[in-house]
Amino acid sequence: MTKDSLQYLQQLVETHGSAGYEQNVQTIFRERVAKVCDRVDTDILGSVLAVANQTGSPRILLDGHSDEIGFLIRYIDDSGYLFVAASGGWDEEVIVSQRVLVHTANGPIPGVFGKKAIHLMDPEERKKKSELHQLWVDIGASTGAEAKELVEIGDSITMDAGFRHMLGGRAVAKSFDNRAGIFCVSETLRGLKKNIQASVYGVAAVQEEIGLRGAKAATYAVDPLIGIAIDVTHALDIPDANKRKAGDIKLGAGPVIVRGPNVNPKVFRRFVEVAKKKEIPYQVAASGIGTGTDANVIQLSRAGVATGLLGIPLRYMHNPCEMLSLDDLDNLVKLLIAFIESVTAKDDWTP
Ligand SMILES: [Zn+2]
Repeated sequence: MTKDSLQYLQQLVETHGSAGYEQNVQTIFRERVAKVCDRVDTDILGSVLAVANQTGSPRILLDGHSDEIGFLIRYIDDSGYLFVAASGGWDEEVIVSQRVLVHTANGPIPGVFGKKAIHLMDPEERKKKSELHQLWVDIGASTGAEAKELVEIGDSITMDAGFRHMLGGRAVAKSFDNRAGIFCVSETLRGLKKNIQASVYGVAAVQEEIGLRGAKAATYAVDPLIGIAIDVTHALDIPDANKRKAGDIKLGAGPVIVRGPNVNPKVFRRFVEVAKKKEIPYQVAASGIGTGTDANVIQLSRAGVATGLLGIPLRYMHNPCEMLSLDDLDNLVKLLIAFIESVTAKDDWTP
């Protein structure tokens, strides 16, 4: 990965934006693609739609989602503690004791998720997993009035966890789900040659984590023939993962090409063909349902879209220390570019 790409990736994951609050992330994405696109629009939900080779055919949509999981302040008590609603799927075990940022009208302020210390628990309590309403965010305020001068109901809260390089070309950060996806979208737009036939819409979609909401509206607007979602997928090379249940996906073994009813069989086959031809490492995962990714709503837009789904192997999903392999990102971008370059206006994608 080039230094410039790495810097951009780090900037993406160190920017904050849970569902409905993605604006700062979108600004970075827009700036990244502005020079290589014919136009860059932001829709009324906040999704960014950037198109390269606008007059080409067919229209291909590339989708990543810009939101991360987070929280919203729901209640401020008289002592100045903040109680929150979840935005996206949190494991309460992960939340306990984390450092967070509360995003206020006047900028971010630090907080921590507090919980009663082990010494204060009775033996039964010690065994139990916390529930979200039993946790609170402590910003150091002494009274409710003091807290309310700084924060408002509905302010968003995200994890305060930066990017860090790890051994073996791996990295950890919060929100690789799915800043890694919009990273791949923008770097693909930037890497396309001028002589492609297709027009390529790169979408940084909002509000995926709360029900695939931004992609639904954006796909309707673009009206593509082909739509490719790029999202993280579980790496199973961890202790205790049951491969019989979940399959065998590894970190660093290449992007994942998903196969199943949520994916057009010819789109799947084309991805495999171009990966082999260009000697790009890849892995295949099967999903027997409409996936929990934007690919689900992309496929069902209007009269249907020839849909593909590429996965970025990720350990510790929905955790402030999500881990991925930087090589997998580079290879996913190569795979997307090779796919797009192979698409002609004459291709028939009907199964
Ligand atoms: Zn997610």
